[in-house]
Amino acid sequence: MKVLIVGRGIAGSSLYYLFKENGSKVHVVESGFRRFYPTLIHSLLLKGRDIDLALESLSFYASHKIPLFLYPSYTIGKIPPEVIDKWISMGFNIEEKYVPWLGQDAIIGHNTDRLVGVKKLIDSVPYIKGQISIDSQYRVLLDGEEISNKYDLIIVASGAWNSFTVKSTLPLRSYYCWAWAVLTPKRVLDKVFIYDYELGFYSRPLFGIGSFFSIVGDGDTIECSPFSPQLGDKRAVKEASKRLGPLIPIYKGDGYCEGTPDMKPVYGQISEKIYYIGGLNGYGAEVGPGLAKLLFNFIVKGEEDKEYSASRFHGVSDFRIGKEPHEF
Ligand SMILES: Cc1cc2nc3c(=O)[nH]c(=O)nc-3n(C[C@H](O)[C@H](O)[C@H](O)COP(=O)(O)OP(=O)(O)OC[C@H]3O[C@@H](n4cnc5c(N)ncnc54)[C@H](O)[C@@H]3O)c2cc1C
Repeated sequence: MKVLIVGRGIAGSSLYYLFKENGSKVHVVESGFRRFYPTLIHSLLLKGRDIDLALESLSFYASHKIPLFLYPSYTIGKIPPEVIDKWISMGFNIEEKYVPWLGQDAIIGHNTDRLVGVKKLIDSVPYIKGQISIDSQYRVLLDGEEISNKYDLIIVASGAWNSFTVKSTLPLRSYYCWAWAVLTPKRVLDKVFIYDYELGFYSRPLFGIGSFFSIVGDGDTIECSPFSPQLGDKRAVKEASKRLGPLIPIYKGDGYCEGTPDMKPVYGQISEKIYYIGGLNGYGAEVGPGLAKLLFNFIVKGEEDKEYSASRFHGVSDFRIGKEPHEF
């Protein structure tokens, strides 16, 4: 089978390996619209079936030798007891206790959170530089030249650009989000994850070595086209400073993500041989390879997972971007 994957992001790169390892000839086309960061957060402390996708993603990273760096996580705020019970039932090592350097109680996750070297995954995938567009007749064009007949299967994995790549209505909307690299006197912040659901921010290591830098952000989003430049405010830095002491913002990392009506990721079929995957929100490194596996199983084995397939949005014609599923 000849497979074309549109987009060399987390979803496209995972699909590249899944199909290649299954014996397909796979081409990936990448336009270069998206900027990538060396590492992204991978947490297992999610909700419901997302935990299964995160575990599947973790085993994908491990089996493809993608670097994973473990750090403890500190979750502040009211987490529904059934969610905590689920974490414990999955065998995760968590405990709630007073944390002196935070000056308050937190749920501590031991070995539940990692930075994942997504750049290594993406850089390992060979690609053709170019831009794909799919018109309303489902003709696939590479930089304007039709290539539909060269492939048996086409998968659109172009992230926030999905709705611009395909002339077809998809249950996806793009948005802008951002985070700040900050200077901090508390070197512990470069060695821990903090999810503060009371003040509404997260903090994560930048270098992960106990330096004077970390990264803070919040779940704030601006719904917009991925082609429209935006400005992100410093609210996350202000809120985080209330909990963690003075933080000086030095660099804003930003980009575009996309969400679905229920803010959980999705895969679906567009035409006989065109499929799509997306809606990975701000947690694509956490669940992306797991979702790619579901799409692979759908195409190759005919297995549909109704919790993540597009059939769940049947009848939904309009929606607004909400909060990510793990932003309790
Ligand atoms: C500032 C920031 C911080 C984030 N932090 C985290 C984090 O810590 N943990 C986490 O899990 N997630 C994080 N995310 C979210 C994560 O980056 C996304 O969930 C993830 O990148 C989505 O993966 P994807 O493969 O669907 O899309 P993308 O990663 O966006 O990949 C799509 C690719 O398709 C290419 N493309 C687009 N259109 C075309 C076209 N027409 N033809 C060819 N190529 C095309 C793009 O250039 C891009 O490379 C963050 C996002 C941002 C912006």
